[in-house]
Amino acid sequence: MLIFDKPFTQQESIPEHGISRAVEIMRSGRLHRYNVSADETSEVSLLEREYATYQGVKYCVATASGGQAIQLGLRACGVRPGDKVLANAYTLAPVPGAIHNLGAEPVLVEITDDYHIDLNHLDEMARRSNSQVLLLSHMRGHIADMDSLAKIIKKHKLKLVEDCAHTMGAKWRGIRSGNFGDVAAFSTQTYKHMNSGEGGFLTTDDDEMAARAIINSGSYMLYERHGTLPPQQAFEHIKLNTANYSCRMDNLRAALVRAQLPHLDDNVARWNQLYDRFYAHLSAADGIDIPARPQAEFYVGSSIQFRTIGLSKAEIPTFITRCAKRGVELKWFGADAPAAFTSRYDSWAYLGDVPHLPATLAALDKTIDMRIPLTFDGDDCDIIASIITDELNPVALC
Ligand SMILES: *Cc1c(COP(=O)(O)O)cnc(C)c1O
Repeated sequence: MLIFDKPFTQQESIPEHGISRAVEIMRSGRLHRYNVSADETSEVSLLEREYATYQGVKYCVATASGGQAIQLGLRACGVRPGDKVLANAYTLAPVPGAIHNLGAEPVLVEITDDYHIDLNHLDEMARRSNSQVLLLSHMRGHIADMDSLAKIIKKHKLKLVEDCAHTMGAKWRGIRSGNFGDVAAFSTQTYKHMNSGEGGFLTTDDDEMAARAIINSGSYMLYERHGTLPPQQAFEHIKLNTANYSCRMDNLRAALVRAQLPHLDDNVARWNQLYDRFYAHLSAADGIDIPARPQAEFYVGSSIQFRTIGLSKAEIPTFITRCAKRGVELKWFGADAPAAFTSRYDSWAYLGDVPHLPATLAALDKTIDMRIPLTFDGDDCDIIASIITDELNPVALC
């Protein structure tokens, strides 16, 4: 029986010059981003400039994690304790966690069968909740119709925070994901598109929001050392009454990310080759359905979602176990108890009474999720796909 033996969680190594630079920084002892002389630019500041250039925005603030970048983004939009924040219900745990950490309350919005935020439900919940902010996760890299979304944002005068943890490098109608909202958050945690263990970015074009994020990130009165810096007057009236939440990135991590950024677009192309190969196999298989992706979406195929239409809900765990026995690691969001990285809204009990969202649960009940690390090659895709299709039709094999 064909067995696949590569781990689904193995990322590529850090480029050699990133490792040498990190070693140099360790030898220097200057790991803290503000540990530079006045005329020097720290590794973190260089990264902020380079990422802002890549993203095509004025400002980038490097952070300790993607979740922290989301928190800073919500604060930059003026979210206060008790405020309501609209958010699509299909996301990863750091998203409701960021809202909760601010003392705010999520207003969960349904998703559609193709994993996008349900725009009709968004319209309705925006009206009913009177919320001022939408925190939109482009979950698993699926980008909703941003033109229609923009109309709803405008209609309800919402501020938009984009969670681009899965869309770093992706675009909608040629515009980079992250450049549709007031602020965007990115993650450089190990399983995302660049890997520094932990880390993230907030990006924005807004002077005031950038200044707030810089001070909130923990800049002390050293904010002038930031890589992308709003005009001095943006700091004047906020610098003494904006708290330091201490979530900076350090020089070591910045060195690792700087070495990866020049390869990001090539890596996106490699991800998409693997994704497209999986897609070709799986979409042609009996009993598997993959929702079509919109033309305007330029995705990053670092994971794939598919539905096992031939299996009942009760049969899915057996299918997952059989695949796992043959080395194929699949994730299912339909299980009653959350496992590993949790993404089903009803498992976040600390949120209190969550609404019943039948469309979201129905979409997740049928969905299988698979990571696609860049350490896989085309042959690996073929083997994995054949194991998945075998296990879907085990009877046919006998
Ligand atoms: C990973 C992730 C984040 C942020 O994660 P960190 O581990 O805090 O960097 C936010 N949203 C989504 C959807 C994610 O997958």
